[in-house]
Amino acid sequence: MRILVINAGSSSLKYQLFDMANETVLAKGKVERIGMDTAILTHEPDSKPEVREVSEILDHTTAIRRVLDMLVHPRDGLLRVISEIDAVGHRVVHGGEAFKGSVLVDSEVKREIKKLFDLAPLHNPAHILGIEAVETNMPHVPQVVVFDTAFHQTMPPAAYLYPVPMAFYRKHKVRRYGFHGTSHQYVSERAAAFLGRSLEQLKIITCHIGNGASLSAVMGGKSVDTSMGMTPLEGLMMGTRSGDLDPAIVPYAMGKEDLTIGEVNSMLNRHSGLLAISGTSSDMREIEEAKAAGDKQATLAFDMFEYRLRKYIGAYAAAMDGVDVLVFTAGIGENSELLRRSVCERLTFLGIDLDEELNRTGSGTERTISRPGSRVEVLVIPTNEEWMIARDTYVLVKERGLLKPNVVQ
Ligand code: ADP
Repeated sequence: MRILVINAGSSSLKYQLFDMANETVLAKGKVERIGMDTAILTHEPDSKPEVREVSEILDHTTAIRRVLDMLVHPRDGLLRVISEIDAVGHRVVHGGEAFKGSVLVDSEVKREIKKLFDLAPLHNPAHILGIEAVETNMPHVPQVVVFDTAFHQTMPPAAYLYPVPMAFYRKHKVRRYGFHGTSHQYVSERAAAFLGRSLEQLKIITCHIGNGASLSAVMGGKSVDTSMGMTPLEGLMMGTRSGDLDPAIVPYAMGKEDLTIGEVNSMLNRHSGLLAISGTSSDMREIEEAKAAGDKQATLAFDMFEYRLRKYIGAYAAAMDGVDVLVFTAGIGENSELLRRSVCERLTFLGIDLDEELNRTGSGTERTISRPGSRVEVLVIPTNEEWMIARDTYVLVKERGLLKPNVVQ
């Protein structure tokens, strides 16, 4: 059973080919600069050298065709024929209120995803291009869509509504949706499995801290709150995003600097966060290096980032009336021992007792970094959104009896 996982962006497309029988990645890669005559395909087969090709790729249909050609390439490929791919799973950023879990693609599902273009104008149109490109190249393969928002559809109205006139919600769907749901779900499930405890009985705070960053309060395996909102701008300070701020700043800044709506949007999404405060970088590794060298602005950027994250952890402990497990994941969460230590050493009142040695050692594996007596277990769990997409795709395709018999093709 082979599943191809696709994450289609407007000018790029990432892929991973999974062998579900032994849960391995056979190959991964990406196509960048789609729409240009110098598009780049980078293909990384497991146990073979990486391949890089520059060529004209003007649309997503051609991009998928090139990926499929690569997967069956006599030297660099891993399959004999394309029909060895049993199903395709797509990451879709926005599922709105229509999708509370992953679904098989049909015309109705595509219509619903298109209705959400307004809410995710940069992402959902690109996902549809990806789905239709697969339809063109592999007309008979079942496709599944896995939504970043779906896991958070269990939030109660008290958590997902904004205190603004209800007409905004009823007419325009203005509410909190949350994102990174696939990651929050994956690491909370892995945390319970790692601890050998039942997910139903745990209160978990999951911290997905990468370039984009969000927290989720997961109670009994269900998301009851998350820090991103109607868009991925709300919540934590991020690499280039502001996170929470007084909404009155928007009209004020527009008036003072004569900015358009597009310019304010760009300021808050692309020119804020770590980048704005440090004045040099949105990348946490560089912030930490500059801080170690005594750079004042980088130190302030780090402190603000850490402070806002710590406040949210406190808030989510309050949201669940307690916390049993704190999980760190994604680029910064998995790798920055400094951030984890800075956060945890000022959360002792919650019952967090970090083991500094465990926090410093180990990487790339699921591990405990709290002391044995700590009331809250603190874990590092590497996220794996692609694997979750492959797993959901496999489960759905199998349930519907769409798996091909296991014959040599
Ligand atoms: P994305 O949201 O783009 O998927 P990632 O999850 O890959 O982002 O996270 C990228 C972030 O992780 C960057 O800020 C990077 O500096 C940070 N990061 C990666 N390795 C380390 C490290 N060893 N120490 C601190 N930060 C790190």
